[in-house]
Amino acid sequence: MNNILEIKSFSGCFTCNDLRVGMIQSICYKFDYIFKQGLYLLSGNFDLGGCAFTYAISDIKHYKREFDNELEIYFNDENININEIRKITHNIGLTKHRKFYERMKFNTVENQVKKGIKANNLTYTPNEIRDMFDIDQDRFIRNIHYVSKNHILCNAAIGFAKNKKIFTFPWINKSELSIQINKIKKICNVLLEHNCILLLPTNNIDVFVDIPHTVIDMSDYTVESHLSKIPKIKCPCCEFFTLSDLRDQYQLCPVCYWKSCVFSSENPHNYNNINNLELEQAKENYRNLGASEEQFVAYIRKPFDKETPHDPHKT
Ligand SMILES: [Zn+2]
Repeated sequence: MNNILEIKSFSGCFTCNDLRVGMIQSICYKFDYIFKQGLYLLSGNFDLGGCAFTYAISDIKHYKREFDNELEIYFNDENININEIRKITHNIGLTKHRKFYERMKFNTVENQVKKGIKANNLTYTPNEIRDMFDIDQDRFIRNIHYVSKNHILCNAAIGFAKNKKIFTFPWINKSELSIQINKIKKICNVLLEHNCILLLPTNNIDVFVDIPHTVIDMSDYTVESHLSKIPKIKCPCCEFFTLSDLRDQYQLCPVCYWKSCVFSSENPHNYNNINNLELEQAKENYRNLGASEEQFVAYIRKPFDKETPHDPHKT
């Protein structure tokens, strides 16, 4: 079966408090994407939102994740919520949380694989799954925190036994990626054969040249990039195209310092409470002083070419 994951308007923030990465926020804004089975590299640095998205949909429980409620998720055309997607998503990362350590203490990789096979009625034996992921027997019978650099292989095997469909990789920095790359490729090959969707946030896409993948540039999903896609509208005072078409918000024009909102341009001769003057007065000030009020002359900037109307005399 082909697995298709459709994401509509994911906006979220993930606060990482990781020993390797430190305390960093990853913020993603209005992310839309249709994933089919395959490997997706969510390209960009940690803060660019790849982590916010992958951690939001993954099954790890104890990180602080926030997202807005515009989000819509469809898995194989079925509308599901964030809790449902977490049930089919497995994070291959190792967590440092104390409770998790305690819970895992007596649980060997082999036992977790066995449990997964039983719960999902899989036809594999534990040793078959062990061999698919190239895990040594002496590591397979240990707790996952004592398998050294094999933890991502062991974690992937556990997710596979749990019959997960979507796998998210943790953030892995460049030097660690160079150590782990062969194991990551092994995991990708096995999971891609089984129609899984793999999501890997990274700032180093070069090491994946010999494995089929799709690159998603996460810098397209920042607040700034989203605002830059919104058509610009004319400032009622200086008449340059400086304002984003966001009708429900006040905006400050950087060229004349007029504060604009949908109510402010109704009648240019009415006193404007937000700006504390009439629009007609502000326009005259702009013509004479270069700003809507004298006190703002020091703060304004010149309009960019792209903000200049093609014919400024035409209204
Ligand atoms: Zn203006």
